[in-house]
This record gives sequence, C-alpha cells and structure tokens, in this order.
Amino acid sequence: MNLIYKSTRNNNETATASEAILKGLADQGGLFVPTEIPKLDVPMTELAKMSYQDIAYEVMKLYLTDFTEEELRHCINSAYDKKFDTENIAELVKKDGAYYLELFHGATIAFKDMALSILPYLLTTSAKKNQVKNEIVILTATSGDTGKAALAGFADVPGTKIIVFYPKHGVSPIQEKQMVTQRGDNTYVIGIEGNFDDAQTGVKKMFSDPELAKEMDAAGFQFSSANSINIGRLVPQVVYYVYSYASLLARGEVAEGEKINVVVPTGNFGNILAASYAKQMGVPIEKLICASNENKVLFDFFTTGCYDRNREFILTSSPSMDILISSNLERLIYQTAGRDAEKNNEFMKSLAENGTYTITEDMKEQMKDFYGNYASEKETAEAIHDLYKKTGYVMDTHTAVASSVYGKYVKETGDTTKTVIASTASPYKFTRSVMNAIDASYDSQTDFQLVDELCKISGVKVPQAIEDIRSAAVLHDTVCETEDMCKEVKKILGI
Ligand SMILES: *Cc1c(COP(=O)(O)O)cnc(C)c1O
Repeated sequence: MNLIYKSTRNNNETATASEAILKGLADQGGLFVPTEIPKLDVPMTELAKMSYQDIAYEVMKLYLTDFTEEELRHCINSAYDKKFDTENIAELVKKDGAYYLELFHGATIAFKDMALSILPYLLTTSAKKNQVKNEIVILTATSGDTGKAALAGFADVPGTKIIVFYPKHGVSPIQEKQMVTQRGDNTYVIGIEGNFDDAQTGVKKMFSDPELAKEMDAAGFQFSSANSINIGRLVPQVVYYVYSYASLLARGEVAEGEKINVVVPTGNFGNILAASYAKQMGVPIEKLICASNENKVLFDFFTTGCYDRNREFILTSSPSMDILISSNLERLIYQTAGRDAEKNNEFMKSLAENGTYTITEDMKEQMKDFYGNYASEKETAEAIHDLYKKTGYVMDTHTAVASSVYGKYVKETGDTTKTVIASTASPYKFTRSVMNAIDASYDSQTDFQLVDELCKISGVKVPQAIEDIRSAAVLHDTVCETEDMCKEVKKILGI
C-alpha cells in the first residue's frame, strides 16, 4: 500500500513519496509529512545482524512506498559506498560513558552527507518515475555544511543544476573554501550579504513564486530542494538512529527493548525530527534531547511553549546551528496540532507576521519526549577541552554543544539511561575553534598548521576532504545582496 504525504499548509494537497521528493516544498510554503509514521516490520534482533545498507533498505522502503526494491537498493548502494571512509558508514564510539554516533565519515565530513549522498539518486529516480522532462534546479540555502554536501552530491549529475546560497560572513573559513572550490559544470555558489535565515527566506520565496515557476517551466527548468525540508533528506536520516540501536544491541551494550536517550545538536530541527520518527517507528528511545547553542530558540520553546524568533542572531563557533527559524519544527507542530493544516497555518502566519507563536497545552503535552537545553560558547569549548583531557578524543564544536547539554541533563535529572550523542561533524571542519578550546596558544597558527597539529594530538588521519582543499583553486566568487537572489538565479538560468 502506498504511503501518502500531505502538506502541512493545505489539507487537500497530497503527494506520493516520489512526488514529494521532486517538489521539495509543498504549495504555499508547506512541508510534506507522511499521513502516518510506519512501524518497523523487522525485529531489532534481525536488524542487529544487518549492514548499514540493508538497514537503510528496511527503513526507507516503509516511507518510499512507490519505489521498487530494485530502485531503492540502487539508490542506497550508489550512495553508501567508498565515498565513506569507513565500511560501517557511521561509527558508534563509547567515550566517557556516552556513545558518540559519528555521522561524519562521508565526502564532506559532516552529517549532511548521510542524506545528501543519496538524495540525488532519490531525485533522479523520482523524476524518471514521474516522466519529468524539465531540468531540475536544486536551490539551496546553507548555514555551511548542507551547501558543500549538496554540491558534492549533485556535481555533474545529468539533468540537474545546483545553486547554493550561503551567508558570506557566517560560515567557517574551511566551510567557505570547501564550497567555493567546488568543481562541476552544473554547480553555482553565491555568498549573500545576510545571515542564514535571510538565505533560507530568499530561497523559500523563490520556491513559492508561481510566476517564477511558470517562467522556469517555459524555459525547461523546475526547482527542487536539497534543504532538510525535503522528505528525501529526512527519511535517510531516520536510518542511522535505527542503525545505532541495532549496533548497541549487536554489541551487547543494551538488552533487547532497553530504552536509550538520544542527544542531537540542533539547528533546523531535521536531525532530531528524524530521531523522533525513529522512536515512533518502534526504536526504544526514551528522551529526545534537543541541544542548542546560544541561538537558543528551541530551548525556550520546549521550556515555555512559546516560539519567539525576535532576538539577536548570534554568530557562534557552531555555525551550522546558528538558526532562529527551525523549519522542520513545523512538521512537529502540524503533527501535534492533530495533522490539521488550518491550525498549523495559524501558527506559521503568526511566526511570519510577529516572529512568534504559542502552542496549546495539549500540543505541549504531546512533546514531553523532548527535553531542550543549550550550551554557551564557553561551555562548548570546555566540553571539547574536558573530553580531550579525559579520553584523548577530539570532537567538533557542534557535537560539543550536544555533549555539554547532555552533561546538564544528567546533572538536572540524575537519569542514567544509556545515551547516544549525534556527532555531526569532524573536528577537522572546525579546526580553529576546536584547537583553541584545547589550548588557546594554538590561535597564532594558520588553518593548515592547525590541521596538522590536530592530526598529531588526536591520532586521527587528516580526512581526504581537507587534503583536497589545501591547494584547490577558488572557482566561485559571486556575492549578492539578499534582495538580488532571484536576479542571480535568473542570470544563471538565462531567463
Ligand atoms: C546541519 C548541522 C546541524 C544541525 O542539524 P539540523 O538538522 O539542522 O538540526 C548540526 N551540526 C552540524 C555539523 C550540521 O552540519
């Protein structure tokens, strides 16, 4: 039976999985949500014996019901291959009593690779299934990591172009270098004079502009999205939560059915929503611990029930979480509002007009699996420093936010449930912040000196993604004002 997807903003708009992947965003800015979260139909004891790829199949087949087994296995096997520097695809390492789920073994050394290495295959398969003739233009706003991972995934994929907007002054030097050196005839990278929310708002505006869509169609183009609002991003992310539990079980770290907690460093709410889907599918997860940096909108939201983006935007050492509008939260709002687009629309209208909304007590009650907290810049650096001194393990700034919040959670609750911490980036991606946290005297060194120093102190080999940019030429240097984003897109497409 086909699983149907519905728009969070229009009760009448439905789509199959492949249609939802192709469209990315529903009409009127809505997000596609499955009408129900499917249940795992293979016991965890069986999953515990499977490879990452086979678990991916068992999870994704339940969501992408209009894909044949052959199609889906082709997508999975093309994505999760030698591009990853470990055969396991994701690693689960135990340090200081917690399990770090390393999701950064892909091509661009951040967890975005987990979904963006498969999305191009899901998308081109969906296009074929739906007899799409237009060239697909992937339009993406990035806070740093999505952009590079999407560029790497889509570079030179026939029938696609990819255009990435990033905040010119809001990403790390290594993140920027990774993007502006991207090869591929179909890749375009543009810095904007604004922050991530400006980039995301600009992109969403283009997606929901019917005039632009008409112009594009006449010229043989149509947009799709590689942002985490695309369900083709969300579904592959559910896989590694199932995988992490299966691994714990396989290693005898948990007993069958024993509950675990999950901590996720959160920005756009995609990764933690995937964890919540895994829980709803039947993975024994107790608490979903939502970790924010100083942009702590989500902490405030889970504490008070009021979402309020009216605040200063803070640039932190975990830039991929510098977000005040967490787009995927809308899926949780919609779900807890009884899957009623009318109700969801009221909240989203209030967010657009006043920058704030307050959920009902009933909705808040349905979110009691979530626990929110945040880590300051100082606490984040301390977490990196302390874990390194204690164990020799070096984690990146985003993971450190999660690690710090986990510490606060344990202190507050005394909860000793075994815990998986989503480790979302390699420390090599945020070398300066990481090394400074370990010892402030490192700050005088150049970025690549720091890379070599990190290699020395951690004993972890410098990833290929970093070696690649040591000497790469800058191929993209366009910068524009926020209001000119659409103009730049038209220029690229020649319309
Ligand atoms: C994108 C990103 C996050 C935030 O993930 P969301 O799905 O947006 O919540 C956290 N850490 C890193 C390294 C990222 O790239």
